[in-house]
Amino acid sequence: MDTYWDVVVIGSGLGGLSAALSLSEKGRRVLVLEKGTAPGGCASSFQKNGFVFESGATTLVGFEPGLPLDKLIREFQIQFPLIPLERSMVVHLGNQTIERYQDPKAWILEAKRAFGGGLRMEVFWKLIGSVSDSLWSVSTRYQFFPFTSVSDVWKSLRSFRLSDLLVLFFSFVSLRFVLKCLGLTKNKEWIRFLEEQLLITSQTTSLELPLVLTSACLTYPQLQNYVVKGGMVSLAETIIEKIESKGGKILYKQEVTLLKKIPSKNENQKMDWEIRTKHRENFLFQTPLVVSNLPIWNLMEITETLPKLKGKTKKFEKGIWGAFTMGIAIQTNPAEAWTRTECLHHQIHLKKSLPYGGGNSVFLSLSHHEDSIRSPDGIRILSISTHIENPESWVRDDIYQEKKKTIESILIQTLEEFFSWFHREMILFQHSATPVTWKTWTGRKFGRVGGIPGSYFSNPFQMLSNRSEDPNLLLTGDTVYPGQGIPAVVLGGLHSVEQFIERKRG
Ligand SMILES: Cc1cc2nc3c(=O)[nH]c(=O)nc-3n(C[C@H](O)[C@H](O)[C@H](O)COP(=O)(O)OP(=O)(O)OC[C@H]3O[C@@H](n4cnc5c(N)ncnc54)[C@H](O)[C@@H]3O)c2cc1C
Repeated sequence: MDTYWDVVVIGSGLGGLSAALSLSEKGRRVLVLEKGTAPGGCASSFQKNGFVFESGATTLVGFEPGLPLDKLIREFQIQFPLIPLERSMVVHLGNQTIERYQDPKAWILEAKRAFGGGLRMEVFWKLIGSVSDSLWSVSTRYQFFPFTSVSDVWKSLRSFRLSDLLVLFFSFVSLRFVLKCLGLTKNKEWIRFLEEQLLITSQTTSLELPLVLTSACLTYPQLQNYVVKGGMVSLAETIIEKIESKGGKILYKQEVTLLKKIPSKNENQKMDWEIRTKHRENFLFQTPLVVSNLPIWNLMEITETLPKLKGKTKKFEKGIWGAFTMGIAIQTNPAEAWTRTECLHHQIHLKKSLPYGGGNSVFLSLSHHEDSIRSPDGIRILSISTHIENPESWVRDDIYQEKKKTIESILIQTLEEFFSWFHREMILFQHSATPVTWKTWTGRKFGRVGGIPGSYFSNPFQMLSNRSEDPNLLLTGDTVYPGQGIPAVVLGGLHSVEQFIERKRG
C-alpha cells in the first residue's frame, strides 16, 4: 500500500471529489480517504431491506451552460446517468397547491395567481431572475472570490463585466428592502412561502439576506432538474471511476483523526502533511497537499495547524441546522396515471411545526418511475426530510426512540392528508434518520448538515474562502464558499484547485 501521495483528499463528498477529479486530470496522484463504506456523504444512496434510499439530497440542478455541473462534465468528459424532469416542484401552502414552473413566464403567472401583487410581483421575479443569472456568471468566473488579498481582487478584475455591478449592488441590499419598495410585504402566505423556500436552499428563513444570495435560492426551480438513475450515489461513483482511471484511489473505512505538518523527505519541499486514520492496518499517509472536504468544525478537531481558521470557525457555532430524514418504500399500481404524472418534488407547509426542533415544512421526493434500480415492479421510494433546530440536543437518551416515532407518525399522517395516492397499507418498509444517525453516517459534528445559514452573511464577501491560511491545505464542501447544495460544493471544489494552480504559477 502506497503511503506517499501527491494529494490526499479527506472525505468523498461531492466537494472533495470535484477537487480530486480536477487534480487527477492535472496529472497528480490523488488518494481519497473516506470514513464510510460508500462515497457521496450527504448526496449518496444506500441499500436497506433490498430498497435503494437517498441519504439526503434528492434534487439536482446546475447543468445549464457555464454552471458547475456543466463545467464538470465538459472539462472532464464524464457522463452521469440522468433523467430530466418536466416538473420542478410543487408547494402545498394552506389550501393552495402552487406549481413552481421551470418556465419563468409560467412561474410569474402562477405567483400572481397564488399571491396577487400584479405588476409588482412580475417586477420582483424579473429582478430576481436577472440578479440570479448575473450571480451564477460571476460565481463561475471569479475563481478567487471571496477575496482574501488585493491580488485576488486584481486577478478577478481581469474577468470583469459591466453586469457584475448588478451583483455588487444587490450584495448590499436586503430581500426585505426590495419587497418593501415593491409593496410586497403584506400578504402573510407569500412571506411564509418565501421563508420556507429560502430555508431549503440557503438554510435560513430570514428576509434580511442580501438579495443577491436569495436570488439564486429563489430561482432554483427555474433550472432544469434531474434525477440520477440508481440514486445520487451514481454521481460520486462516476467521478471516482474517472479519478481511478487517472491513477487515483479511494480508500473506505478510513476516518482521519489527525492532520499535522512534518519535515518533508522530498528535496523540493520543506514540509509535508502527515495524516493518521483509525484504520487497523493502513493508518499513516504523507502528502504535500491536502484537500479537506470536512465541515469546518470537524476539521478543527483533527488539526492544530490552522489557528486563524479556528478563530473564524468559532463565529459559526450557533443556529446550524440538523435534519430528520425518512425513507419509505411503497407498492404502487403502475397502471394508475399518477405514477407517471405526479411531480417528484414537493414542499409541504405544516399547520403546526414539528416537535423536538422540527421545521414548519417538510420536503418530499419520489423516485422516478423509469428508474428501474430504485423503482422496480411498481415500487416507489419516498424521501422525506425536515430541518431540525439544535441538532446538538438529539442524543441517544431514554426518549430518543419516542421522539423518532412521534415525528415518523406525523410525517406519515401528513402524506395521507396531502396525497390521495398515499395509503399507509402500501408501505413495504420504512426507516428514519435523526441528527444522531447523520453524525454516525457522515461524521458531521453534532449531525450538523447543510452548511452555514445565509443569515450569517450580510454580504457574500464575508463567506469563508476555499483557501486556508496554509497554501497547501484547500477547503471544500458546504461550510465554505459558495455554500450548500450540490452545484455549490462542486463549484467550490473546482475553484479551490484553480486557485491553487494559479497561485503556484505566481
Ligand atoms: C437532508 C438533506 C437534503 C438535501 N437536499 C439537497 C438537494 O435536494 N439538492 C442539493 O443540491 N443539495 C441538497 N442537500 C445539500 C447537499 O447534499 C450537501 O450540501 C452536499 O452534498 C455536501 O457536500 P460536501 O462536499 O460538503 O460533503 P459531505 O456530503 O459532507 O461529505 C463529506 C464526506 O466526508 C466523510 N468524512 C467525514 N469525516 C471524515 C473523516 N474524519 N475522515 C474521512 N472522511 C470523513 C463523510 O463520511 C462524507 O462522506 C441536502 C442535504 C441534506 C442533509
